[in-house]
Amino acid sequence: MDEVLVVCPHCGKVNRASREKLAGGLRPDCGACGATLFPGAIEAKDDADFERHVARTNLPILVDFWAAWCGPCKMMAPQFAAAAKKMDGSARFLKVDTESLQQTAARFNIRSIPTMVMIVNGREIARQAGATDASNIIRWAMSHGVHA
Ligand code: ZN
Repeated sequence: MDEVLVVCPHCGKVNRASREKLAGGLRPDCGACGATLFPGAIEAKDDADFERHVARTNLPILVDFWAAWCGPCKMMAPQFAAAAKKMDGSARFLKVDTESLQQTAARFNIRSIPTMVMIVNGREIARQAGATDASNIIRWAMSHGVHA
């Protein structure tokens, strides 16, 4: 598949991008609103927004389930962001605040945070609980088929 489908984190429009150009380092802007499609890790706005990303993105999606009260989550946030910067364009790095997206947290049966979940073609293929650093996140993603 040569085309990547990705949801604009700003306006929600589904955009198409060339996989080859993404691999070459190009980071396109949204055709509708002009926002960058790959700003690093992005926050799902609500449960519907999360569903839209999952349903309409054909890149692997790495989800970081977190909450503001969770100390280890705060420690992990910059690590997740760093991994996102490195792998943006090969995967979508999506954050889910489990306090506001309770429906999504329940659907994924999140029992402890932080928890990372990898979604490919709408299905969970892997998960890992506990805080970790950027190099481990990258290694974990690569072991599940994401290119660095
Ligand atoms: Zn947009």
